[in-house]
Amino acid sequence: MCKSLTGYICIIVINIILLTSCASSPTGRSQMILKSDAALEQEGSRQFKQLRETLPLVQNPATIDYVACVTNAIVDVVEGRDADLYWELAVVDQSDVNAYVLPGGKIVVNSGILTMTSNQHQLAAVIGHEVAHVTARHANERASRAAVTDIGVDIAAIILGGGYRNQTQGARNALSTGALLGLLNPFSRLQETEADVVGIRYMAKAGFDPRESVELWKNMNKKNASKIPEYLSTHPSGETRIDDLIAQYPVALEFYNEAKINGVTPDCKL
Ligand SMILES: [Zn+2]
Repeated sequence: MCKSLTGYICIIVINIILLTSCASSPTGRSQMILKSDAALEQEGSRQFKQLRETLPLVQNPATIDYVACVTNAIVDVVEGRDADLYWELAVVDQSDVNAYVLPGGKIVVNSGILTMTSNQHQLAAVIGHEVAHVTARHANERASRAAVTDIGVDIAAIILGGGYRNQTQGARNALSTGALLGLLNPFSRLQETEADVVGIRYMAKAGFDPRESVELWKNMNKKNASKIPEYLSTHPSGETRIDDLIAQYPVALEFYNEAKINGVTPDCKL
């Protein structure tokens, strides 16, 4: 009785946390945001500084200027609170096809990405996608979800394990594995799709041709046959992704045409 009552109270507590922490992503999807943005941004800055100190940075000014030109154009169309973030870029001299972001607007692009992107538009597709991960607060969402999954696992383990230390630990391990396999992975796919949707809009608003995003993924898939680019291992591709991007064309092309009418036509060259 006492045990189930404890579980019941904990479930109520979780529900209260969920109800009080609902936020909205740029696509209008409701998100659970439990972590402090400021704390994550501080941690992002710290890690970015560390990366810049330890990774080999590209020295060629033309390459840095090219990536910075595309990045600036994308960041320029970011609105709201995120427009005030201290956006920073590191172009790393590494051949792995990879790009990623840290909370607070810290963008890392490996020079290897440039072997996969044929023009400024395709590079903008990568940068737009990465910037979208930041503005959609995906890091916070993932950290929040992990925190709640841990709480959920603890409570379930206490109930299943009957409160005995060994059994509780055993149940906890089993549930953690299940949580890792079942709960967290599909969620990450959802974020990837959302970053595509938001990213293609950013690139179009910034004056880059949104249709090049599909060309980029086609290129990636072709290369995929021989050696899987690192970017693909964390960014699942395939026909679904391309179809989803094509589905965004009507909105994205409207932004793109509007940008052209307003004279927003970036000319980033390597
Ligand atoms: Zn991504």
